[in-house]
Amino acid sequence: MAKHNNNNNGKAQEKDEKKLGITVKKSDNFSEWYTQLCAEQGADLVDTRYGVAGFVVHKPWAFKILRGIYDLLDKEIEEDGHEPLLFPTVIPEENLLKEEEHAGFAPDVFWITHGGNTKLERKLALRPTGETAFYPMYGLWIRSHNDLPFKRFQSRITVFRNEATTRPFLRGREFMFYETHDVFATHKEAMKQIDTDMKIMNEVAYETLKIPFIFFKRPKWDKFLGADDTYASDTIMPDGKRNQCSSTHDLGQNFAKVYDVTFKDKDGKLKYGYQTCFGPGIYRLMAALIAIHGDDNGLILPTAVTPIHIVIIPITFSKKPELTEKVLNKCKQVKELIEKSCFGIKVKLDDEDKSPGYKYNKWELMGVPLRIEIGPREADGDEVTIVNRISREKEKLNLKNIEKELNTHINDFEVMLKKRADEYFKGNTKDADSLEKVKKIIEEHRGFIKVPWCSTEKDGEKCAETLKAETMGGVVSGIKFESPEKPKKDQKCVICGKEAKHIVYVAKSY
Ligand SMILES: [Zn+2]
Repeated sequence: MAKHNNNNNGKAQEKDEKKLGITVKKSDNFSEWYTQLCAEQGADLVDTRYGVAGFVVHKPWAFKILRGIYDLLDKEIEEDGHEPLLFPTVIPEENLLKEEEHAGFAPDVFWITHGGNTKLERKLALRPTGETAFYPMYGLWIRSHNDLPFKRFQSRITVFRNEATTRPFLRGREFMFYETHDVFATHKEAMKQIDTDMKIMNEVAYETLKIPFIFFKRPKWDKFLGADDTYASDTIMPDGKRNQCSSTHDLGQNFAKVYDVTFKDKDGKLKYGYQTCFGPGIYRLMAALIAIHGDDNGLILPTAVTPIHIVIIPITFSKKPELTEKVLNKCKQVKELIEKSCFGIKVKLDDEDKSPGYKYNKWELMGVPLRIEIGPREADGDEVTIVNRISREKEKLNLKNIEKELNTHINDFEVMLKKRADEYFKGNTKDADSLEKVKKIIEEHRGFIKVPWCSTEKDGEKCAETLKAETMGGVVSGIKFESPEKPKKDQKCVICGKEAKHIVYVAKSY
């Protein structure tokens, strides 16, 4: 091996000097900013060089954040009475295609056709989503009204779809998934669950992750295959496109009739159950976190999912080893003090042999909310320097009062994060009462556009096609679920000019 060493020197050096930093501004080129932030030079979230297009490797920092999102959802979903279970990854072809509309998924499905060299008697689908895996089993399990409501969920799994274009956390051929599948005796109870699903999204996405969104009832032509209606939460990305962060489907009795999900009711009669399924988008929430909170210096992570709350950085001098030792000792003391007195706060001491400047840069890229800097002058006293990732302002932190002071700093950070996101989102909805105005807004600002619309049923679809063509991709997001707005008396559909029946939201989509 020794003789190769010379040849490898160049490469070894290149590998050692990993360059950090994003070279474009988020406001100048969002797409490139996002790509760089996801890559090794940024927050090192994914590696796209796995060798199969659309399949990415999740690096530790990303995977820890994703686990955090799963934890938040699991807590809410279990508290709402759902039980966890785990289904096989494969679905028999005949089950996948049994529900006529749902069979529309088939062109996007990856199929397993062989076991070793032997051709399988029946093809197996790599699950594109869970309905057709769950419901044949529900048909076997559910017997009487006593079994209802029947609420189950599956977490921390991936699903597969043969997407044409892929982008980390926005569209992948294998992506992280979350699904609940519920059965109720009445449609009223099913609708109540949809309301609960929205409240769970509000708690997790908005209150905790600080991602603002609007919950929509989708138009009929844009519903989930096999559903009666689809309800979805959409946020807006900095490039002005809508990002669907969750969907809940009112499945009615469609799947129940196909997979025989029946129960014996109190009156002794056999009835079909009413079903709903809720899918918070793990990936889409991650994409929203990156895009909405991040800035030109990197990620900014909400405290609920950040792998580290505080990083301690020693300000050391390579030419003064006695000072370095003193500073490092103080850093260790402060770390222990935080661990001992501040329950739930995750702290890291970065004692790697790199310059303080490099470390500031690195942890800002990673989005850690707070950093503590300790230099020789602070090594003797009771005060150290603390820096907030959003404001990047330096303040003094009194070690004698550390629990109270750190909690205040974390709280201030959360308030700032929410305020920033709210302000960003507020400026992203505009009104338009003509196609010209819609076009202009889509060209200049994008975001949500509120427009008068003829119908959200089939006959509104033609107008939606025209809108999409005229605006190069504008789609109807739907009617706001909570407090839907009504058009004014003489308002006309922006496309066909017929009397407007609804106010719908329009946006560009990924
Ligand atoms: Zn119309």
